[in-house]
Amino acid sequence: MIDLRSDTVTKPSAGMLAAMTSAPVGDDVYGEDPTVTELENEIAALLGHEAGLFTVTGSLANILGVRALAAPGTEVLCEASAHIARAELGAHAAINGITTRTWSAPGGQIDLDQIRALIAPDLGPYFVTTSAVSVENTHNFGGGTIQTSYDALADELDTIGLPLHLDGARLWNASVASGTPLSAYASRAAAASVCLSKGLGAPVGSVLVGSAELIKEARVWRKRLGAGWRQAGVLAAAGLYAVRNNFERLAEDHAHARQIAELLADAAPGSVKPDQVETNIVVADIATTGKSVAEVIETAKTQGVLIGGVGATQLRLVTHLDASASDCRKAAETIARLLQ
Ligand SMILES: *Cc1c(COP(=O)(O)O)cnc(C)c1O
Repeated sequence: MIDLRSDTVTKPSAGMLAAMTSAPVGDDVYGEDPTVTELENEIAALLGHEAGLFTVTGSLANILGVRALAAPGTEVLCEASAHIARAELGAHAAINGITTRTWSAPGGQIDLDQIRALIAPDLGPYFVTTSAVSVENTHNFGGGTIQTSYDALADELDTIGLPLHLDGARLWNASVASGTPLSAYASRAAAASVCLSKGLGAPVGSVLVGSAELIKEARVWRKRLGAGWRQAGVLAAAGLYAVRNNFERLAEDHAHARQIAELLADAAPGSVKPDQVETNIVVADIATTGKSVAEVIETAKTQGVLIGGVGATQLRLVTHLDASASDCRKAAETIARLLQ
């Protein structure tokens, strides 16, 4: 099976497993796991922040990050297909007690005009107060797109005094593809999260970064939500290995995604614009082919290729370090045949 459903499907490599089994560990609830502390410090430094907090998922890192910036009863603005709004099961309402209002833009892009019109920092005792703006970079359901107006938005929010939350689950991909240092992105946000279990290939884990104060509070809330952990250094070791070994190679995944997009565009003209595939996610709209998403996914599976669907007419293929160039080509040829 060639599995291109997500970049989360990777399995730990031999080198990563060796790092995990040899990691020094301790009780992290007591702050005594040296490997967890090393990971938190290394990621915080990479992202240009004072402190970091290792969490079991990106969703938890986002819950803690948004919670730190938005009091219950206030709102956070985000794009309509943002992970925090669509794929965290209402956690920000159920746990953080906030509402969201959204803008909608192709590729999940920042739209400054729409955001300006939404921002309501203090309209008196009648309207909900905007506490923060959350941005995803790259944007997952937008098709792995890099935000083009990221700095412009950060500048505006600085002027108004509203904090930026960065869901950087795939900030690694944005950085490698754009040549922008991770810290140049993340340091603009008051709280930022990154996933170690996406393109980098770790089995588990995300890191939330922010000021020392913010992370101190987030640590309390992580435990409050039942997600403190003990000898988590075995997992942090996988994260350290992932960042140190599997970051720069993301460029290969991006090249593979571009090749997939080209093959699909040949087979089903207009379904995808290869030059708009910037990172490791290919979203192809198959509306004009007359095939259904379910049918293509099912038939592909019988031919040894796993892919995903997003929305009624869109297929999603995600490249990653366990899918070689020839795997990706084979998968794309299979899907291309099914679309013709
Ligand atoms: C995967 C992802 C997350 C976190 O997902 P978890 O499954 O909770 O680790 C957050 N944001 C984006 C954009 C993602 O793609």
